[in-house]
Parts: sequence; structure tokens; C-alpha cells
Amino acid sequence: MFLVLKKSRQHFFILIKLILLIILVGCLVANQAQAQNIETQLIENLMAETPILSDLHQLCDVIGGRVTGTEPNERSVEWAVKKFEEIGVEVWTEDFEMPRKWAEKSAKATVTGGSNWSPRIACRAFSTGTPKGGLSAELIYAGNGTTDEFEALGERVNNKFVLVATPVMENLTLLFLEYINAIEIESNAKKLGALGVVYMSSREKKLLYRHLTSYGVKNDMPMIVMARDDATRCQRLLENGKTLNLNIELDVIDEPAYIAKNVVAEIKGSEKPDEVIIMGAHLDSWGLGTGANDNGCNVTMTMDMARQYKKLGIAPKRTIRFILWNGEEQGMFGSQAYTQQHNMNDVKLTLTVDIGSGNIDGFFTNSRPELQAMLNQYLEPLDSLGPFEHTDAVIVGTDNYDFFAQGVPNLVAKHDVYNYCADYHSESDTYDKVNALNLKHNATIMGLLTWQFSNAEGKWRFKRHKRKKIEKAIETYDLQSGMQALNLWDGWVDKSRGRK
Ligand SMILES: [Zn+2]
Repeated sequence: MFLVLKKSRQHFFILIKLILLIILVGCLVANQAQAQNIETQLIENLMAETPILSDLHQLCDVIGGRVTGTEPNERSVEWAVKKFEEIGVEVWTEDFEMPRKWAEKSAKATVTGGSNWSPRIACRAFSTGTPKGGLSAELIYAGNGTTDEFEALGERVNNKFVLVATPVMENLTLLFLEYINAIEIESNAKKLGALGVVYMSSREKKLLYRHLTSYGVKNDMPMIVMARDDATRCQRLLENGKTLNLNIELDVIDEPAYIAKNVVAEIKGSEKPDEVIIMGAHLDSWGLGTGANDNGCNVTMTMDMARQYKKLGIAPKRTIRFILWNGEEQGMFGSQAYTQQHNMNDVKLTLTVDIGSGNIDGFFTNSRPELQAMLNQYLEPLDSLGPFEHTDAVIVGTDNYDFFAQGVPNLVAKHDVYNYCADYHSESDTYDKVNALNLKHNATIMGLLTWQFSNAEGKWRFKRHKRKKIEKAIETYDLQSGMQALNLWDGWVDKSRGRK
């Protein structure tokens, strides 16, 4: 009897175990099916018609260019907060200090010396202003502005405006070189006592643009871009022996440090609320165009992602923060401040989109090859939008930089470049240049990826890098000159910026 009882008890427990196993497997399958179902719905909703373009119209056409420190920038912050409130996610702003308030009010030039006309010009960022009536001096030609060319001119540079030629900027490599070459050009001009630097516009058809010089916020001389058509005319005249005089009158707002705001929206994690995944794009722009491809389209994409998550009523395991960075164009000051105001051990991954509206064709893993497998797995349902190819190269020119320098895993979307180079930071970066279809594809890619990363099973796999490892990445990917061109190198070396 005892034996029989024991046996039947054994059977009973085996049966219970079996039932539990079936329930467990059932739950897992159901969970997986539910997860797949959410993904499918998310993809469908992001691909369907959403307010992504009407939002872009409001941001770019109605508000317009949004230089940090100006009234339109403040309006764009208020607009973004209201949008996130309407979407139904928690939203707030975070203050940070901008080191110098700068914006161009007007820029005029006159060339005299036999051939007299008024070339089109724009200030480079943080150019000093001039007295009313302008500054006048002889204009001399310094070729491409190499050290050899400057040395050949020698003392002739003193107190003159120096015209520097540029190639037409047709691709991202040339754009990158434009920033790198400025280091040599500007340090030579300064050393030889030039009155100011006149850059030939690297865009054709009289197009002007504005971005940082190699001195960034510390620039202390007049620096302008002259329309290519006008600058090449000057070049030909000078090369044919004419003596030209240039007068430039630059009216700029140039004031001390002030407070600007990042916009932060959040969906709290249901299982690991302290672990944060950040999806971000910068809200500010230079003011010549309306900042559509750079970076309005990715601002409204970030909003649309939050909107679709909210619409489906889905809660991620980890917290997702949608951040619209400010002060990016002046030197990524909004994202820098964020890394200094928050515990970086809590931030598990950041995703940044800042290369326009060309189709996303992969990601910069920023020295994290281990992220590639996860990316490939997560992008599988979007095969039809691929192929995707990733690179471990490091981007230092957008809001991922400070996370990279803090050792936080970070991804930057890589794009099939579309209308990006010619319009980059220029008057022509307007709504009509955004590729609406690509933007929808990109929203779907980013929407799905951010969702999946925030729901990754188990313990977060990617550890924060220590300073030594970040140093190694800087060496491996040869980042020093790029960091110098963007005024990031000194901060990294003296440890005022990045992981100590
Ligand atoms: Zn940008």
C-alpha cells in the first residue's frame, strides 16, 4: 500500500511538473507571439500615414531656422513640449549653460579696385562683428590655405583679408575635410596676423552656409563665407594681377553665456525603469535655411516614434527617453550637459539620427562591434528596407559624442546620403528637400530598433567602457584630428569632457 501510494504520488508529481512545463512553454510561445504581434503592428503603424510631415511643416516652415539662443529656438522648445504632451508621454525640459550667445543679424560686403561689386557673404559661426561702416583691407589669395601657401605669402598676410579656395563639396568625405582643413587655414591666418578669413563657398550657384570654424566658440576674428561665384571672380582677378580691396560689415549678436533647454520625453520601463535607452535628434539648426534635413526631419521622426508606442499602449521593459538636443550646432552642448547632469551608468544605449532623410542603410557602432549581431537580428523583420551594413567606425560630430566619450554604448544611423551635402547648413536646407518616403522607412527602422533594444531579454549585455578603452578607440579609429576640428580634443585631454 505504502509502495503503491508512493508510486502514485510520484506519478502525481510528474504529472504536475508536466502541466507546469506545458504552461511555461505555452506562456513563452504566447509571449513570443505577442512580442511579434507588437512588432508587426508597430511596423504597420509607423509605415502608415502619420503626422510626421505636418509636424515637419510646423517646425521648419512656420517656426523656421532655430539657432540656439534666439527666439525661434525658444519657440521650437515650447512647440516640442506641447507636441509630446499631445502625444501623451511625460515631458519636461532640462536647462544647461551655453558658453556664448551668437547669431548673425546681417552681413554685407563690397569689393573695390577697378572691378566693383557686392559679393554675397555670410558669417561663419562665432565670427566677430565689425564696426558700423565695416572693416576694409586688401584681399589676398592664399590658394587652398596650406602652411606652404601661407608661408610663401609671409608678411603680406598681416592685416589683410585672406581668400581661401575650396573644392565643391560633393560627398561626406569632402565635408569632413572642410572641417579638418580649417585647422591649418585658421591657425596660419592667425599666426601671420590676417585681419580675417574669407572662405570660398564650397557650394555652387551662390549658395551660402554657416558652421563652426576650427576655434568654435573661442573664435575671435572675422570669418566669412563668400558665394563661390563671387569668390572665384575675386580669385581670377587677383591671379591676373589686380589689387582688390574688401569691405565687410558684419552685424552680430555676441553675448556671454546663457541658459538653453533640452526637451526630454519619457515612457517609463515596466520591468527595469532605471535602465534607460535614449533615442535622440537635435532640435536646433543654423539659421540660414530652416534646418529640415539637418535635423528637423529626425526631430519629427523621434516624436512619431513616441506617438506610435503610445497609440499601441505598449510599455517597454526599460525606460525609453526621447530627447531633442539643443545647442548641437555650436558644439553639442546640450548632450554634453546631459552626460554631466545624469548618472551615465543608468544609460544603457543611445541612438542618434542626424544625417538627413536618405534611407538608413546601417549603423555606426562607434567602436562596439559586439552590437552588430543584435542589430542584424533586430532588423530582420525589415529585410525589405535593407540591405543593412554596419561599420564600427566612430562618429564624433553629433550628439553621440559625449556618450561615446563617457563609454556609453551608442549608435548613429548611417544613411544613403540624399540631398544632404549640397544643402548642409545652407540656405537651401528646407522642407522640400526632405525625402518623405525615406523618412517613413527610417522612422520604422528606428521605431522598431529602439523598441527591441528596450525590451532585450535578461541582463543588459553591453558594459560601459573605461577611459583606457575609449582612448584605445580614439587611437584605432584615428579620431584626434576630427576631435580637434570640432573643439573636442582639449576637453578630452584635460578630462573636462568625457570619462575621467
Ligand atoms: Zn545635425
